[in-house]
Amino acid sequence: MAKEALELWQGLPPDTRRMLLSNVWCGECRKAVTIVDYHAELKGVVVLQGFCGTCGHKVARVIDDLAPKKPKQGKK
Ligand SMILES: [Zn+2]
Repeated sequence: MAKEALELWQGLPPDTRRMLLSNVWCGECRKAVTIVDYHAELKGVVVLQGFCGTCGHKVARVIDDLAPKKPKQGKK
């Protein structure tokens, strides 16, 4: 588990985390499901990787804008 990613994730408000965890797209169920047994990875931004709570298929949730602090780049 990437420690930095986990710390960023845990820095989010509990309500936000709950909302994100229960709104993960599963390609098998073809609907938004709850992610279980997840871990956080850092791929530029934080990515949660785990499994669909309904069917067990592998799912991932990219947490947009959740990245280590660094000088802001101008938005295009
Ligand atoms: Zn599923």
